[in-house]
This record gives sequence, structure tokens and C-alpha cells, in this order.
Amino acid sequence: MARYDAIVVGAGFGGMGAAIQLDRLGLSDYVILEREADLGGTWHVNRYPGLAVDIASVTYSYSFEPNPYWSRLFAPGEELRRYAQHVAERYGLRRRMRFGTAVEQARWDADRRHWVVTTGSGELTARFLITATGFLSQPYTPPFPGIDGFTGRIVHTTAWPDDLDLTGQRVGVIGTGATAVQLVPELADVAAELTVFQRTPIWVVPKVDTPIPAAVQRLFAALPVTQRAARLANTAVLEAIMVAGVLEFTRAKVLNRGAGLLAKAHLRTSVRDPETRRALTPGYDFGCKRPTFSNRYFRVFNSAHVRLETGSIAEVTAGGIALADGSEVALDTLVLATGFDLWQANFPAITVRGRDGVDLGAWWRASRFQAYEGITVPRFPNFLSLNSPYSYSGLSYFTTVEAQMKHMGRLLGELARRGAATFEVTERANAEFLDRVTERLGTSVFYGGDCGSARSYYFDPHGEAALLRPTSTLNAHREAVRFPLDDYVYGGVPA
Ligand code: NAP
Repeated sequence: MARYDAIVVGAGFGGMGAAIQLDRLGLSDYVILEREADLGGTWHVNRYPGLAVDIASVTYSYSFEPNPYWSRLFAPGEELRRYAQHVAERYGLRRRMRFGTAVEQARWDADRRHWVVTTGSGELTARFLITATGFLSQPYTPPFPGIDGFTGRIVHTTAWPDDLDLTGQRVGVIGTGATAVQLVPELADVAAELTVFQRTPIWVVPKVDTPIPAAVQRLFAALPVTQRAARLANTAVLEAIMVAGVLEFTRAKVLNRGAGLLAKAHLRTSVRDPETRRALTPGYDFGCKRPTFSNRYFRVFNSAHVRLETGSIAEVTAGGIALADGSEVALDTLVLATGFDLWQANFPAITVRGRDGVDLGAWWRASRFQAYEGITVPRFPNFLSLNSPYSYSGLSYFTTVEAQMKHMGRLLGELARRGAATFEVTERANAEFLDRVTERLGTSVFYGGDCGSARSYYFDPHGEAALLRPTSTLNAHREAVRFPLDDYVYGGVPA
């Protein structure tokens, strides 16, 4: 018999949302396994200077657990960490968490109708397996030749030492994604020389950020409806950007072009040197790759001690970086803002074996990346994979989490109503969903735009844009509570 009702893998906002829903469903005997030493997922791991959310905090939080006291429109990382702690305390989640517990693999035991999850310290069993391992949780270090021989310090942005002081140093940053865009201005403030190694430029639009006055915070606390209204207004704007600018690209090109023009104007008014401006201008359509928000990033390239390097990296030497043209940049510290391995190490983040021993990652790679409604997979009974292909809905991760909580509620509620032990999505329902999202992507910037040079992690190894759900979040939330119940088969009786 299964020891637990459920095993949740991951104590970030996804795993905590799933756990809260399990409690609501009366499936309270669960455990949350977490590789890291504390909860919070991405907000526990990332601690680099400049870290902040870039979706407004009224929206980047659970709708059922608003925080009236965000200090800014876009809260700094530390506040997100505290918010995660608050949610864990408020919903009694911490006592269910086991930290420092890396899951190695999970397999479905068809005879016993439970999942067997292997960790470094043994095996656990549960009726349901819920993986909430995040999308951006496997740090990526490119295999630069010579990297092990560098005599200075190498720091990946996901392992930022709290006491790291780069004052007066020659610092190199490899990468120009959202992380670098936040970090580079902070490093420019302290480094003696800063070289930013760019392979692909990124679209950057201004960030309209401001402190939230105490009076507004008090209003949000006293009259929660006001904060709900602010959330609704912000969500509507995000929805319009995503649906009109990205998903309906071919029908509403003008909106997408408008965003590109805004970013270009921002660049023109921020950077003095025309050569540098040219180098910072993306050669792919806005939205092919996740755009970024900053008022400071572009401006740092006007400083004499900051340099944009676009030559390709040949190797890391003992003293710095050698470029393909034979020149070398001397460095004391090399910062790797090189992001995450999304597709190889993360889909899935652990080995998962379903019915007949089928390996989820191997199947996705051999066929196509797919998951019904971005959450369940045929041949994987009683398995909810929160970070699945086509699961990410909208721009705030919380819209995804809460849609998935609703899907869990409908599905596990139906299971209980039938007195059944197992659920499994049908091949037919899965195939229909995959056909539908594939067709919808036809109008998106991913297939209708020019994304050739973007090197975007939105594309899977098959070249399909299989990360984002190509529908409105309204559609995602509607389907989460209305999907046909016979899209699943239900079997057995609980032991
Ligand atoms: P990223 O967007 O994947 O960027 C990685 C950077 O490293 C890219 O510029 C990439 O260049 C470069 N790179 C990788 N391998 C390289 C190589 N071999 N040689 C040279 N350059 C190389 O990673 P990230 O900046 O950490 O951001 C990841 C995601 O985290 C973001 O897209 C966002 O979703 C999230 N994030 C959010 C926030 C926020 O909300 N505030 C902040 C930070 C991050 P190419 O582009 O050429 O591959």
C-alpha cells in the first residue's frame, strides 16, 4: 500500500500551489521533496545583485494569498523569498517538506498502483506523483575549452556567494539574457573594468517601476478589492501583450512591431555610440525569445569602463577569455549568466517511468514534446507534471500554477466521486490537444515571425515552440474546470 497520498517534487511556487490544492481535496498525507536547503525554488536559488521580478507583484503572487505590502511595483528577489516563506507558514507546508532531498527517479508500480520514488536516502511510495521542478532550475555552464584552468574566480548567477565583492576587479559576464540585464548595471557600479560577452542581443524595453507608497499598501490591506482591481488591470495588459503581440502575431503584426519600435527607441536614447547600438540590436522578431525590462542596462555601455564584446569565445585561458580573432580579455572574475538547460536536463528533471516501463524523457525526445493540457501524459497514470510542454500560460507563472490547481481539483475530485484508484489521460485526448496547440501556434511569432537567429529556449530540440501554451490564460483557466471528464480513464479502487 502507498505510504503517502502524494509525493510533490519541488518546493517552489508550483509545488506549494499543488500542495495547497491537495489539502483542499483532503489528500493531506503528502510529502514535498526538495533538492535545495530551503523552499522558494527559483527565488531561493537566485541571489545575484539586481534580482527582481519583472511581472508586477500584484499579479506575480497567488490570487488567493495577496500581499498588500510589496515595496515596489516589481518586488526585489528578497521580498519574493519572504513571500514564499509566508505562504509555506500560512498553509502549514513547511512540516511536509524534506530539504536536501534530490529525487533520482520515479516509477509506476502497476500491480500496487502506486509511484515508487527513489531519493539518495531510500524509496518512498505514493498514489500520486506531482513534479513541480520548474523550467529554469538546471543551471547551464557551456563547455568552454580551458574553463577548468581559469585561475580567477568563476561564478554562475544561480550560485551567487552572499559575500562576493567585485569592487575594483576586472569582471567578465558571459550572456545577455534576463539575468545579465539585471546584473550588469549592478556590476558596472563596482567593477574597475566590465566586459559583457554577447552572442545574441536581447530586446529590452523600459521598466516602469516605482515604490508603492505606504498609503497604497494600507489601502490594499484595508480594502483587498482595490488590490484585486489592480491585479485584474495588470493581468489584462499582460494578456493583451501575450495574445495579441505574440500568439496572434500574423494577425496583429502592428502590435508586435510597436513593441520592437519601443525597444529600439529605448536603445537609441540610451546608448551614444552607433556601433554599440547596432551590436545591441536584435536581428529577430520581438517575442521570439523572452524580452527583458530595464532602464539601466543599455546606459552602462556609455561608461568608459564597460565594454560590449561580440567576438566569439574561443576558450577560457588561465587569465581570461581568448576570442576567435586571437585577442584576449584579462579577467579576475568570470560571471556565467549563461542560463539554464531547459530541454536536455529538464524535460523531465528526473527520470520518470510510467506504464510498461516507458521513459518519459526518452519518449518525448523520440516522438514530440507533449502533455494533455500541459499537465498529464498518456501511459503515466496518477502523474501530474506541472512543468510540461505547452503548460506555461500567460506571462505570470502564477496564472499557470493556478490553472493547474484547478485541473487537479476537477480531476482528483472526479476520481474520488467515482471511488476509483487511478486516472490516465487517453491517447485520443492527448493527440487532439497536441493537434490543437500545434495549429494555434501557426499564427504565433514563433512560426509566423523571423526567429531564425534568436537561439530561443522557447523552441524544443525538434524545433517546435513547445514551452508556452498558445492560448489566452482565460482559455487555460476555463478548460481547467471544463475539460471533458472522459478525456481520462479511471481504474481500480483505492487500496
Ligand atoms: P538565458 O536567457 O538563457 O540567457 C543565457 C545567455 O547566455 C544568453 O545570452 C546566451 O546566448 C548566453 N550563452 C549561453 N551559452 C553561451 C555560449 N556557449 N557562448 C556565449 N554565450 C552563451 O538565461 P537567463 O538570463 O538566466 O534567463 C533565463 C530566464 O530566467 C529568463 O528568460 C526569464 O524567463 C527568467 N528570468 C526572469 C527574471 C525576472 O523575472 N526578473 C530575471 C532573470 C531571469 P544566446 O542567446 O546566444 O544563446
